[in-house]
Amino acid sequence: MDYLPITVQMQGRHCLIVGGGEVAARKLKHLLKAKSVISLVSLEFSEEILALAEQHQLELIHGAFTPDLIKNSYLVVAATDDRMVNRQVSIAAQKLNVWVNVVDDLELSTFIMPAVIDRSPLLIAVSSSGISPVLARKIREKIEWLLPLSLGSLLDKLKSLRPKIKKSFTDFKDKRGFSEWFIETALKDENQLNQSSKKLFESYEKQSSKAGKVYLIGAGPGAVDLLTVKGLKVIQKADVVLYDALVSQEILDNIRKDATLVYVGKRSSRHFVKQEKTNQLLVDYAQKGLSVVRLKGGDPMVFGRGGEELQYLTKYGINYEVVPGITAASGCASYAGIPLTHRDYAQSIRLVTAHEQDDENKVNWRSLAQDNQTLVFYMGLMQSEKISHLLVKNGLAFNTPVAVIEKGTTSEQRVVIGHLNELSEIIKDNSVAAPALIIVGNVVQLASELNWYHSGELIDTRTHYDQVANQEF
Ligand code: SAH
Repeated sequence: MDYLPITVQMQGRHCLIVGGGEVAARKLKHLLKAKSVISLVSLEFSEEILALAEQHQLELIHGAFTPDLIKNSYLVVAATDDRMVNRQVSIAAQKLNVWVNVVDDLELSTFIMPAVIDRSPLLIAVSSSGISPVLARKIREKIEWLLPLSLGSLLDKLKSLRPKIKKSFTDFKDKRGFSEWFIETALKDENQLNQSSKKLFESYEKQSSKAGKVYLIGAGPGAVDLLTVKGLKVIQKADVVLYDALVSQEILDNIRKDATLVYVGKRSSRHFVKQEKTNQLLVDYAQKGLSVVRLKGGDPMVFGRGGEELQYLTKYGINYEVVPGITAASGCASYAGIPLTHRDYAQSIRLVTAHEQDDENKVNWRSLAQDNQTLVFYMGLMQSEKISHLLVKNGLAFNTPVAVIEKGTTSEQRVVIGHLNELSEIIKDNSVAAPALIIVGNVVQLASELNWYHSGELIDTRTHYDQVANQEF
């Protein structure tokens, strides 16, 4: 950081502007807004400055700059088109330790002025450290568009509410809770700014006395930027977050810093939290009036037991919302360059869990063993031998291409491609570990062509297989 951004209280403080033209007028208007006491020195003054001098209390000194003019100044701005004069101003100011800005001259300036979005009392300043004021102005324009016009009045209202907030809440968390509620309500509905503080506190009490709410959120398949915008917004406001083993640390890092984190994963042998316990925790926290997040890998409604948790919440009358996530099938396939459907190869997709104890009976293998569809097996690593055996037995070609995707979408992603009848071998040979997804179908052959995710590794074992197969048959 080459410059320290600070906001200076200029009200009643003296500023000397050296110059009387267009540039001086621009700086003058800025400083007038900040209610500074201003003197200008110049041999002549533009019409605009003369007009401003009639509207405001300005001291106009007709004449050449002399260093003694700086004496009582808090700031000095040099805005002449004569570099010699500007240099003289800069040297004189620096000698007296007075801050000086020479317009468009970084070398001679000890401070520079940022582009400002003025929603007083809210100020947003954008500085390019003097390198490109044009870029700073462009960024300012973009931010201007994003921000509601009422931000200034919002801040004024917050200021007027401050004594009452202080009196009504002793706990810091409660104070913040009210401010967060008010800001959000007012951003949605500007009319709230005209409400009396009594009314506002009443509405706040009414809504906060309600029970809490559970947000069932899908964290996506792994990569932090595959979390949805809504998911991110909710976790940034959560009071409690119950999360699974599949949720990455980078995503957990985005949770509000003082939220309580509860691990309820089922995979780790160290902590094994039963589903019933998780259900009950959700209810208990929500009944305390908290904003509770249940964060799951992928999409919570796809092999995530999200449905069961919601049924439990319904039973206890708990309010909830579901924020979908990118499921592993979507994320892993995309990052492996495999289109799940393709007009030439697959007209439908089947998402299958291979985890069920007696899945041979539960899953209709005959209907899975069809051409023109893509099969995606979740939790299939341990069942890979059975998967390939039953699919081939039910009529799917033994050389149907398969992909096993390990830690899909993360920087550690590995994609191993082979033929269906070698599924368990390629998993073993390449030491594929969980979480991994198995994709079966002709779409898989596009992976080598459409592989764009170069952070990951792509291992295609099929050439090796074909050589062996040619020898055998
Ligand atoms: N609700 C999750 C699925 C949970 S089941 C979702 O919608 O994605 C857990 C299984 O998902 C894992 O066994 C694995 O098969 C798959 N999975 C989840 N994330 C994965 C990832 N990043 N890479 C590969 N497979 C993944």
